[in-house]
Amino acid sequence: MKIIVDVDGVLAEFNHSFASELGLQVTQEWEPTRWHWPDEMASPEAVKQAWESVNDPKRSFWYGLPAYPETREALERFSVLSQSDDLYFVTSRSGDTAKCQTEDWLFTMGMVMDDITVITVERGKAGIAHDIQADVVVEDRPENLIAIRKELPNARLYLVDRAWNKEFQKGGTTHHNITVVNSILDALELENL
Ligand SMILES: [Mg+2]
Repeated sequence: MKIIVDVDGVLAEFNHSFASELGLQVTQEWEPTRWHWPDEMASPEAVKQAWESVNDPKRSFWYGLPAYPETREALERFSVLSQSDDLYFVTSRSGDTAKCQTEDWLFTMGMVMDDITVITVERGKAGIAHDIQADVVVEDRPENLIAIRKELPNARLYLVDRAWNKEFQKGGTTHHNITVVNSILDALELENL
């Protein structure tokens, strides 16, 4: 089976670290309810600067992100799965060292395998999902799944339930045949993996 797994919002918690880059004080429980929250909470200049800082090759922003509670168990399962299935971590993380940082992060968080396939994409994930001919995709961003659905009518698409995709869940999932799961572990369960 060919499985595509997104990183941020599925395995890694991006928002708190990015809020800190923006100089924003947020509580531990805070979760943004919109994808484009930085544009609503900070000036365009501050957002631009934060991204420059994230992309600075001398830093390791991506490597420093915390994992969600379920991530370690998921990576343990992936480590076993990788012996029989093709796993692709597909991310739109930016910066010259994003791929390398992501690989190191996955190893640090418990992935055990010889070779991790991390693919960084600049625009959308539908093209790569099509090229891979993915059977399963796990994502937190509805727009990505909608675009992937157009390429892969028969793939099983999972949306991890997060505060920022609740609005979409009200109407869009049935139409695009997307299954909402509480976490990556539930997606693996439904796939009997
Ligand atoms: Mg994501």
